[in-house]
Amino acid sequence: MTQYSQLNPAERILMGPGPSSVSNRVLKALASPTLGHLDPQYVQIMDETCALLREVFQTQNKMTFPVSGTGMAGMETLAVNLLEPGDEALVCVNGAFGGRMKDVMERCGAIVHTVESAWGEIITDEAAAEAIAAHPKAKLFAIVHAETSTGAHQPLVNISKSAHDAGMLFLVDSVTSLGGHELQVDEWGIDAIYSGTQKNLSCPPGLSPVSFSDRALEVIEERKTKVKSWYLDVSMLRDYYMGNASGGRAYHHTAPINMTYALREALIMVREEGLENRIARHAEMHQRLRGGLEAMGLKYVPLHSLHNLNCVYIPDGTEDAAVRSRLLAEYDIEIGAGLGPMAGKAWRIGIMGHACTKRNVDLVLAALKEVL
Ligand SMILES: *Cc1c(COP(=O)(O)O)cnc(C)c1O
Repeated sequence: MTQYSQLNPAERILMGPGPSSVSNRVLKALASPTLGHLDPQYVQIMDETCALLREVFQTQNKMTFPVSGTGMAGMETLAVNLLEPGDEALVCVNGAFGGRMKDVMERCGAIVHTVESAWGEIITDEAAAEAIAAHPKAKLFAIVHAETSTGAHQPLVNISKSAHDAGMLFLVDSVTSLGGHELQVDEWGIDAIYSGTQKNLSCPPGLSPVSFSDRALEVIEERKTKVKSWYLDVSMLRDYYMGNASGGRAYHHTAPINMTYALREALIMVREEGLENRIARHAEMHQRLRGGLEAMGLKYVPLHSLHNLNCVYIPDGTEDAAVRSRLLAEYDIEIGAGLGPMAGKAWRIGIMGHACTKRNVDLVLAALKEVL
């Protein structure tokens, strides 16, 4: 009989594009007793999780809940619910995740027009306004706030206004930015947004927080065709997460109970630190990391860099994979490789949530110096 050893994964320091390191407190929450998904205790835990999500998203949107699935499930949830075959959509593509949004929306039968800029660059207000003027029939305008493939930090406020002035819904991917960068769903006029647990919230992968404005819900109500995904149909999910007309909870699918515990704990940790303090911590650690990387001669890919994801060019003559393997083998540090056209050309160093500490920043700088 095959013998299997006890599970014993290394305690890595996760400093790539996600997943990020998870605190013991969150891991402990994950190991709490599993409740039934309709148990009143669990319903309360879910309600609290949704309330905490509203705080971190800075929204009053009632329809705010964690989709069962990773960040990509959140992307699909927005697309399948808000688009019908033949609808037009505008999607910004300046990296891998914008490209995925286009693909996902086309799979919904939408006619997707893109606003493009080079990898590493942001979408300018002017380019967005021009595209909006050129495609006035687009139902929605979608954009990535933190393009994890390039490290670019996308400004949203002016573009949101242009999209609204043209009567479009404004959709945002905040998988990497939520809990690490300023992000105000209501104030910035975001109609629908998705995120992930495994990046800046420092929770294991498995849930995708989403939020829909009332305006977005009206668009869903007015659909002429059924949502193409049964699992991600918000009109059915609403009866479980928000309760049906009589206040009861209708079974749709079994919520990932223990993952909800973990997310709730991670969100409580955000609250205890204070969202503003947390954002300031990421800004401060970014300055520290950036100073060290630039002192070593490394150059940033984007002009407008995210704080929590630092994408730098690999120096000429340096072997990409060998450096990353040594960091992992000798220092237990994981950093990210380049994605798509950046493969072999850039590294992505994440300082997200629980991993965003002075100790880790100084350690990764010292380790890189040694290995290079
Ligand atoms: C990671 C990421 C996703 C996908 O999230 P998964 O958890 O890998 O499914 C989507 N968008 C952005 C910007 C991301 O960084």
